[in-house]
Amino acid sequence: MSEERSLNFLEEIIENDIAEGKNGGRVHTRFPPEPNGYLHIGHATSICLNFGLAKRYNGKCNLRFDDTNPVTEDTEYVDSIRNDIKWLGFTWDNEFYASDYFDQMYDFALTLIEKGLAYVDDSTAEEIAATKGSTIAPGTDSPYRNRSIEENLRLFGEMRDGKYKDGEKTLRAKIDMAHPNLLMRDPLMYRIKHEHHHRTGDKWCIYPMYDFAHGQSDSIEEITHSICTLEFIHHRPLYNWFIEQLGIFPSQQYEFARRNLTYTVMSKRKLLQLVNEKHVSGWDDPRMPTISGMRRRGYTAEALRQFCDTIGIAKRENIVDIGMLEFCVREHLNKIANRVMAVLDPVKLVITNYPEGQEDIFIADNNPEDATAGTREIPFSREVWIEREDFMEVAAKKYFRLAPGNKVRLKNAYIVECTGCVKDDAGNITEVHCTYLPESKSGSDTSGLTVKGTIHWVSIPHAKTAEVRMYDRLFKVEDPANEAGDFKDHINPDSMHILPAVYIEPALATTQPGDRVQFMRKGYFCVDTDSTTDHLVFNRTATLKDAWAKEVKRG
Ligand code: ATP
Ligand code: MG
Repeated sequence: MSEERSLNFLEEIIENDIAEGKNGGRVHTRFPPEPNGYLHIGHATSICLNFGLAKRYNGKCNLRFDDTNPVTEDTEYVDSIRNDIKWLGFTWDNEFYASDYFDQMYDFALTLIEKGLAYVDDSTAEEIAATKGSTIAPGTDSPYRNRSIEENLRLFGEMRDGKYKDGEKTLRAKIDMAHPNLLMRDPLMYRIKHEHHHRTGDKWCIYPMYDFAHGQSDSIEEITHSICTLEFIHHRPLYNWFIEQLGIFPSQQYEFARRNLTYTVMSKRKLLQLVNEKHVSGWDDPRMPTISGMRRRGYTAEALRQFCDTIGIAKRENIVDIGMLEFCVREHLNKIANRVMAVLDPVKLVITNYPEGQEDIFIADNNPEDATAGTREIPFSREVWIEREDFMEVAAKKYFRLAPGNKVRLKNAYIVECTGCVKDDAGNITEVHCTYLPESKSGSDTSGLTVKGTIHWVSIPHAKTAEVRMYDRLFKVEDPANEAGDFKDHINPDSMHILPAVYIEPALATTQPGDRVQFMRKGYFCVDTDSTTDHLVFNRTATLKDAWAKEVKRG
């Protein structure tokens, strides 16, 4: 964590608390995902924040699965969440599940009933909604509000025992139906759901609501700083009310602004739709804003952490330019990715004065940014693949690549001079011809020539083939969730483009899924999880420069 920057508002709060000796100077945070989907880059902000604060103040951070809704939750999600947090580089001090506290929460509910602060309501969801009132009008009391404590205890026990159907009864806190904060107007604490839970099985058919589970879980774990996103700000009085009435550990809630990114959507519900309706191949599709998608695409954990650190935290909602994230990715990959040559749109280059059957083996540095990255062998021969765009029959102005009469350097090899091309009957260029200057060999160049262009190439007899998947933004508009109509109307139909057979250096034959490289002049690429030794598959992680105009400045 950089020490130059000023404290953010949460760090200020924590430092004050420590100075005042609150909680004995202890800092304990938690990251509380609901296991109803895969984590996305928004969650990464929350993870970096919670784990980062714990680390900075020698505290602890729990991973707590907020699994109080049996319908949408699944162990597949639990596993992916654990995996993603570890990959991001964080280790939790404890792993808990809100469902582990169901017995304790039930007892808390009994306590509130016994104190006359909760009651069983037979009203339907519609009736409850109709009596809520509005911001300008008070609500009205439920006809069941004044049931006796004994009756409430009996009915609540019967709810738990499965005597009633879903929706037939609820448990509500008895607060104030005229409270200016609508959430304080006798909020629901429990609802009946005859559903199988991924951990508690069929033990329960009543489940606590978020508001009655979250604060109580925080309190049970003695969380000191419970950090959530801004939409919960109005829940804070209720959070405090339950804790105060129960007289349990006084966890405190703090809110920060949700982080959104341009050209994508962030809610798990929407991401689930993209998956279910097959707009993407799965939660880890490299175009998804999920941590697993970004990992598969080739983004590094360091880059994601750097991004979260750079954007920091805010008190007001905003949308961050995705270019900022890509900037962090490029910056890190520039340091760690080996440079290799791959020809994506090939045309044959014949070096006519290079003897047939001869070959050179060049030794090249893997990464000029990293002396420890080592070297590799690159074979050279009479025929090499080059990019089609690196040849022009008639050179345009300032075109310094191959054109009849032009000289260029073949990267790591020789300077060649273009002599012309061969076409088929339809006029398509099938071969480009050139001669090479033997004395211009890279590393021992005595030609005395300087050329303006350097191009990459792959020796044809030595080349391996690979599939390359090129990605672009998943949506055509900056903020698809806030456009008129359905967000899916704004999906970019060209977000993936597959090149079935590109040519790569033979040194790449042994790459493994997850390996990251720079294809010189073409961008950063990562070996996909679909890749096998017989069929290599690369994802384009990022272009070398931001192709989307806007220059992104840091800070
Ligand atoms: P979603 O709307 O994507 O389903 P959620 O808030 O329901 O998100 P949770 O699993 O409940 O997802 O979130 C776990 C934690 O991550 C919460 O503390 C939540 O506030 C935080 N979080 C979720 N989305 C973002 C975001 N876009 N920016 C910052 N924090 C987020
Ligand atoms: Mg949630």
